[in-house]
Amino acid sequence: MLSSPQIWKEFFETYYRDELNRLAGAVEFDGDRSLYVDFLRDLSIYREGRLGEELLANPDRVLNHAKEGLSLTENIYDVSLDGCVVRFFNLPASKRVLIRDLRSEHISRFVAVEGIVRKVTEVRPRVIVAAFSCTKCGKLVEVAQDDEVVLKQPYECPICKNRKFVLLPEESKTVDSQRIKVQEYPENLRGGEQPQQIDVMLESDLTGKVNPGDRVVINGVVRAKPRKVGSRQLQHMDIHIDGNSVEVLQQEYEEFEITDEDKKKILELAEDKRIFEKVVASIAPSIYGHEDVKLAIALQLFGGVPKKLPDGTEIRGDIHVLLVGDPGVAKSQILRYVHRIAPRSVYTTGKGTTTAGLTATATRDEFDGRWTLEAGALVLADKGIALVDEIDKMRNEDRSALHEAMEQQTVSVAKAGINAVLRARCALLGAANPKYGRFDRYSPIADQINLSPTLLSRFDLIFVLTDEPDESKDRKLAEHILRAHEIGEKFEKLRNIALVEYTKEELTKESELAEILPAIDPELLRKYVAYAKRTVFPVLSEEAKRRITEFYLSLRSRAKDNSAVPVTARQLEALVRLAEASARLRLSDVVEREDVDRVIEIIRRSLEQIAVDPETGEIDIDYAFTGTSKSQRDRIMILKRIIEDLESAYEKGAPEEEIIRAAEGEGIGETKARELLRKMKEMGDIYSPRDGYYRLAVK
Ligand code: ADP
Ligand code: MG
Repeated sequence: MLSSPQIWKEFFETYYRDELNRLAGAVEFDGDRSLYVDFLRDLSIYREGRLGEELLANPDRVLNHAKEGLSLTENIYDVSLDGCVVRFFNLPASKRVLIRDLRSEHISRFVAVEGIVRKVTEVRPRVIVAAFSCTKCGKLVEVAQDDEVVLKQPYECPICKNRKFVLLPEESKTVDSQRIKVQEYPENLRGGEQPQQIDVMLESDLTGKVNPGDRVVINGVVRAKPRKVGSRQLQHMDIHIDGNSVEVLQQEYEEFEITDEDKKKILELAEDKRIFEKVVASIAPSIYGHEDVKLAIALQLFGGVPKKLPDGTEIRGDIHVLLVGDPGVAKSQILRYVHRIAPRSVYTTGKGTTTAGLTATATRDEFDGRWTLEAGALVLADKGIALVDEIDKMRNEDRSALHEAMEQQTVSVAKAGINAVLRARCALLGAANPKYGRFDRYSPIADQINLSPTLLSRFDLIFVLTDEPDESKDRKLAEHILRAHEIGEKFEKLRNIALVEYTKEELTKESELAEILPAIDPELLRKYVAYAKRTVFPVLSEEAKRRITEFYLSLRSRAKDNSAVPVTARQLEALVRLAEASARLRLSDVVEREDVDRVIEIIRRSLEQIAVDPETGEIDIDYAFTGTSKSQRDRIMILKRIIEDLESAYEKGAPEEEIIRAAEGEGIGETKARELLRKMKEMGDIYSPRDGYYRLAVK
């Protein structure tokens, strides 16, 4: 073996002269005690890389040599570097191991694994050398600890053979310790696979540096410990990593390498006049129709520009989209497709598959009782898209956290030993089913889905997908689905039986596959999105601003005297974000009029689905989000007054027919009045002491 303390001393003094002096300075002032060695840049070329190879194969011995070697080096301050630690980072990509590929061969080797931090425990001191005092003679006995949970005690006093001791915390040697759980990237998983995780032990200055949701490379030594049942050890082992260093990855789309050839294709696509149609046709092509939804998702993929204003205000660029609708209209299917094509996307359901649910939670660790902070879907989707199916079924803790997550894009957790603000800079694509099974287009959505108005108003776009029989549409849908199945069947046949009448050429004939093949290859689309987000930061043109203002004012102007406000500033911000995304999709540095027109169209269509008061035919955001329009609120007030008056005149309550007659006198038609009565009863405003009579529930 080449490695020895002497060799390491030579290595440090040749390559790390400045760092040694800096470290000595820090040690002098009680600062950092770690020397960081760039593996790829320095160690892999020193002595033909032999020292590096030895480190990877025999980390325990070699790390000790390096530590000793470091203590032998000299520096200008003449400070001893004894006790300092050598940490290695930037291992060659070939030394990276996927968490799911960790095997016996990796045990006791130095490896690098990459992933997302899912859980962190609080940082707590751990005893490494425990000092005990004998209760009889007072003799001090020291016991070196291993990494078991239980503290190791002395067997007996070397002097008086007594077996009772008390721990002396002050005399014991401790080190800060933290355990984290790192999980594979969600985007690297094939559909349906469960992400694999690994525990990483961190000590001293590595502790307290990472948060759930961070993307990291962990460099360290793989350890194996027998599993236990009670106090019995099993043959099966659990593995973890003793962390030597942690690299927190900053860059957003670093996982995409865009070659010159890719760039050429991307720029060519951007020139295409039909680029919007093409992108739309690349999103869930096997799903028929839903073009508005697909365009919204396309804009969501590209996103608006996140801004930090000079006064410190942060404005999100991420676009939130909600799909509400009847069962079986392909909501879940659309979400799953987006999961396949969107970088950094996380798919979950409202009920959540982990204890952390949608956001984050602090729990007690089952292993050592430490408080543990665990990231949920929105934190794991930081800088990506969170796909939340059946969002209406989410837990109550998540409901309140979601307000903050959607607007401030953070998740705050304050509980026991944990106090953290996690980043959740993600776009949200949610799907919700109506409370009563099917969507009733004559009632506002707020009444029909289990989401609060404040939450609903945070979505930039909401679409209602109803499933109403329509002969010609149904026929086309049926043809589309059958066609997709037919092509799928032929493919399966080809795959499974060698001798079939369809040749591959026959199948790949454009005519057959064009219908269900995405217009843009998913791989290229992902790169296109990454390229746009990395390089395009569009700015509003004068004309775009004028057009946005116009549209906003035209909607606002419908608010007369004290009537319901049809559109709020939230919708204005949504408009800007969507227009920026449209410009980005064209790779344009300027938001032009065409972008604004495009998003006005889609916003109008979204609002028409959810916010048209069926009574007046006008767009009314209050109607959408609170379920009661201005006109309706006014009428409810009138009816309440009528009932109140009648109640005092009739002993059994206000008779329905009398209410109707009085209402007609105030200009409320009979049908309308009866419908409102039913509704008020449903909402608990009034009740029937007996059939055909009403009383006010609250006066
Ligand atoms: P939801 O989540 O809205 O209840 P799903 O996504 O589970 O519905 O869809 C049910 C099935 O119907 C899926 O297999 C889906 O592919 C099919 N389907 C529904 N609508 C369409 C459509 N417009 N085009 C193609 N397939 C559809
Ligand atoms: Mg579904």
